[in-house]
Amino acid sequence: MALLSLKNLRVSAGEKEIIQGVSLEVGEGEVHVIMGQNGSGKSTLLSSLAGNPKYSVSGKAVFEGKDLLALKPHERARRGLFLAFQSPIEVPGVSLASFLRRAYAARFGDEMSALEFDKILSAKAEAAGVARSFLQRGINDGMSGGERKMSEILQLSVLEPRLAMLDEPDSGLDVDALERVGAAIGKIRKNGMSMIIVTHYARVLRSIKADRVHVLHAGKLAASGDERLAHKIEEKGYGWVLQ
Ligand code: ADP
Ligand code: MG
Repeated sequence: MALLSLKNLRVSAGEKEIIQGVSLEVGEGEVHVIMGQNGSGKSTLLSSLAGNPKYSVSGKAVFEGKDLLALKPHERARRGLFLAFQSPIEVPGVSLASFLRRAYAARFGDEMSALEFDKILSAKAEAAGVARSFLQRGINDGMSGGERKMSEILQLSVLEPRLAMLDEPDSGLDVDALERVGAAIGKIRKNGMSMIIVTHYARVLRSIKADRVHVLHAGKLAASGDERLAHKIEEKGYGWVLQ
């Protein structure tokens, strides 16, 4: 049985139907990449699966054998569905460490003292190549693009979702930051986490092997294939896929 199964999923905001019948199966441990022109609905698809109340969703979405659409956003997170935002929000007053402690408790139902949690967090931070001082900063407060992404990577590594949805983890990064973020995602992936990664660039695939690559166009899947599809799009653009 697939970890996530979408059948004829439709997502609207007000009168506008943004996702117009998407069917997709993500198996246990699989990595799927979604590409597509700006405005094709990639962020909307991920955001609606996470339970963003802005969207009304119809069709079928089954996660771990449960009807995903019947679950509230926090229940989806607790079951291991994680969305990393394309433009992460800033929460200046809350340190990354205390945010992660609360998120950990919500995910695993395990309330820990700050001291106990610090042990877990320190190990995760070290593995992700994140300095301890970074953990005391406000969430995304004054962080550079690369630091924001590393803060998300750390969230991934602490919350250990079953399915991580990453919306353009490579946006706005310089070449070196891209390498770091890619390598960190690749490392976390080793524990068999499933992923849906939205990206414009085949570069991500240097550190993470994708099982399937899909092209979303005007709210529908226009093509699906293996990694060669991503490389061909990078080389030739989207025109040939959409013909
Ligand atoms: P992508 O991530 O592929 O660039 P989006 O999912 O962000 O595309 O947006 C797809 C389309 O849906 C765009 O035309 C966008 O303006 C529209 N859209 C997204 N969210 C809303 C919303 N809450 N209300 C109205 N239109 C929206
Ligand atoms: Mg987007």
